Amino acid sequence: MKSGTTLYKNHVLMLSQSFFIKDNQAELQLHAHKYDFDIRFFHEARAFVAAVAAEEGNALFVIDLDAIHNMQTDQGDGRRTLMLGELLQSLPADHDYIYLQSARQGGRFLLQQRLVDTHCLAYAEKPIANDVLVDKLFNLFVQKKRGEIVEAILLGAVPGWDEELLREGRVQVAHHADPLTLHLQVKERQPSIVLITDAEYARTEALVRVLKKNMEADPIREIVLLQGRDDPALARRALDSGFDAILAGGDPALLAGQLVRRADKIRINRDLISKDRATGLLNKVGLQRKTQALVAQAARQGRPFAYGVIDIDKFKTINDTWGHSFGDIVIKRLSLVLQAQQGEGDLLSRFGGEEFVVVFDGCGLDEGARRLDALRQAFGAIPFEVAPGDVRHFSFSAGVAAFPEQKSDNELFLRADAMLYKAKLDGRNRVCGGAPAARGPAA
Ligand code: GH3
Ligand code: MG
Ligand code: MG
Repeated sequence: MKSGTTLYKNHVLMLSQSFFIKDNQAELQLHAHKYDFDIRFFHEARAFVAAVAAEEGNALFVIDLDAIHNMQTDQGDGRRTLMLGELLQSLPADHDYIYLQSARQGGRFLLQQRLVDTHCLAYAEKPIANDVLVDKLFNLFVQKKRGEIVEAILLGAVPGWDEELLREGRVQVAHHADPLTLHLQVKERQPSIVLITDAEYARTEALVRVLKKNMEADPIREIVLLQGRDDPALARRALDSGFDAILAGGDPALLAGQLVRRADKIRINRDLISKDRATGLLNKVGLQRKTQALVAQAARQGRPFAYGVIDIDKFKTINDTWGHSFGDIVIKRLSLVLQAQQGEGDLLSRFGGEEFVVVFDGCGLDEGARRLDALRQAFGAIPFEVAPGDVRHFSFSAGVAAFPEQKSDNELFLRADAMLYKAKLDGRNRVCGGAPAARGPAA
């Protein structure tokens, strides 16, 4: 099947020497697909510049500096080799570019300065392996993304505290007044940053040791001391007892700026750790973290939720018959079907190779089974053209469980997985575990 441009979330436009990239092109593209983006190759500067100018979405632009060596221009004054300066000048100024360069070019300071001044987002040095380049581009996509809110919790009062700047930086702060219940709040809300003023810390120093035990397992969360007045002895004790950083609270704008920077890093690291690169869905780690938080929240609010495990039927045969990269496209299409039906508060995870988990917030068992069955039908309706004129349909089986019948993350998975096993035994292409409304396939 041809991979349509809508199959991947992100896009790269690349201007490159045809002889450098030609043999590599197909392989580079396959790597890119595993990271949820595709690459459009250009071998001619004018076409590249026009495509960049027309690009409105969230694309990255890569320029192989050697490309210009064998590129001709015709500005009415006859054909001659394009100069680097001309190319840089013609690039639309409202975008940033990634420059692919040789080690020799990388050593030339004036060239580097020139590039930095011409909307340079990053460099990569050639020769570069396909997977290294793709990984680098993927990281740039993650960094470019606006990203989710980072939650913080603040104990104590900071004069001139600038909540507006923090909000703009996508940091949301909850205020907490009682040092003796802070650890409970931290446990329940799972904020990424815990902020404690020096005055509060001085009053209850044991607080941080208690907190640390709650957060130790999670390396991307941090505890920050906000220093109102200079006190090196207190700061040293704070570091020793488990604070990750000490920030001066004197200048509110500076403090907010620093917190926003830290939040950006936390957000990027969290994404890298908790998401599946090929689909952008949660991976196993991310799902576990979110499900545990949902269990706590649902228990407090007395709300049910449904938990489904999905596994594509006879996937080995799909791989064996049409190839592994075709199998990848089937996985990708299923992820898009799931995303299209995702409600607010729902969780989606690519749990393993061709296994997915969906969590429907606010749904009981039977409603969950009905929604899973609708997904099953939507996936089954997708036509896959495996060869010209040869259209196939594929299916998945699923098992469903629900909170509060199952009490924990782990119990939910085990029950839903047992129901998935039953669905496979009963003949596949069906959802098991809910009410009979979710019977097998009609055909
Ligand atoms: P069943 O209906 O019983 O689920 O049969 P199945 O063939 O799907 O069996 P199983 O779930 O055990 O097989 C999963 C296969 O998926 C095995 C593995 O080679 C393949 N696979 C795992 N991850 C990926 C991936 O990322 N891409 C591709 N193309 N294949 C994968
Ligand atoms: Mg499987
Ligand atoms: Mg399978």
